[in-house]
Amino acid sequence: MTVAERQAALEGIAAEVRVCTRCRLHETRTKAVPGEGNPDTEVLFVGEGPGMNEDREGRPFVGRAGGFLVELLASIGWRREDVFITNVVKCRPPGNRDPEPDEIAACAPYLQRQLEALDPAVVATLGRFSMASFMPGVRITQAHGTTRLADPATGARDATALALYHPAYALRNPDVARESFEDIARLPGVLTEARDRRASRAASAAAAHDASRSATMTPMPDPEAPTTPDPVTAPPTMDAGSLEPAVPDDQLTLF
Ligand code: SF4
Repeated sequence: MTVAERQAALEGIAAEVRVCTRCRLHETRTKAVPGEGNPDTEVLFVGEGPGMNEDREGRPFVGRAGGFLVELLASIGWRREDVFITNVVKCRPPGNRDPEPDEIAACAPYLQRQLEALDPAVVATLGRFSMASFMPGVRITQAHGTTRLADPATGARDATALALYHPAYALRNPDVARESFEDIARLPGVLTEARDRRASRAASAAAAHDASRSATMTPMPDPEAPTTPDPVTAPPTMDAGSLEPAVPDDQLTLF
């Protein structure tokens, strides 16, 4: 997929999200928040759901939590424009309550399509609801700062998930804020490892493709071969009086 195609796919998803009525959260939202960022990024940040400021502006992580996320990114020399940021649910749960399982399920296809379009090398999860989509069955107090290969069923074809605390939680807890800086410091290394893994998989897939292609190629006649085929070793598909292969030239192009 080219960057332009990726951008178009993301804009198509955003247009659907803005008018979505698949779950009850559409009844209380001001604006849906599809997500935003660099369509050519290798890193996707996934939060839980929009808060009050995000609901008002229709953009993700624009309040104090967004400011802290920008600080975290700056600590590793990145800007929010370098990544793509979205949420598990695209509409604000009233009163900032946790999203309900049926709301998460209703919204999941949008995140899945965003992952398919972006094909990120790393998915950084922000908070426990996002983490549960990529690292089911773990607790964030133990899993923060750790990685796991994302299940391709999520839409991420070949991505490493890195669990991070939600910035809003870190703002309320100085220890968590300190740990958040330690956790995000791992991100550049995690990205390098994910890039290497993807490059090596792509090289293996290309080598396997080449090998299977050459195995199906019909051997061409050897121009150095004697003009009279050996009647004992010549393959039965060769006319003993000619070096022309029995497979017509137009079929050779099929291989
Ligand atoms: S949260 Fe998701 S599924 Fe629910 S209305 Fe908003 S966009 Fe649609």
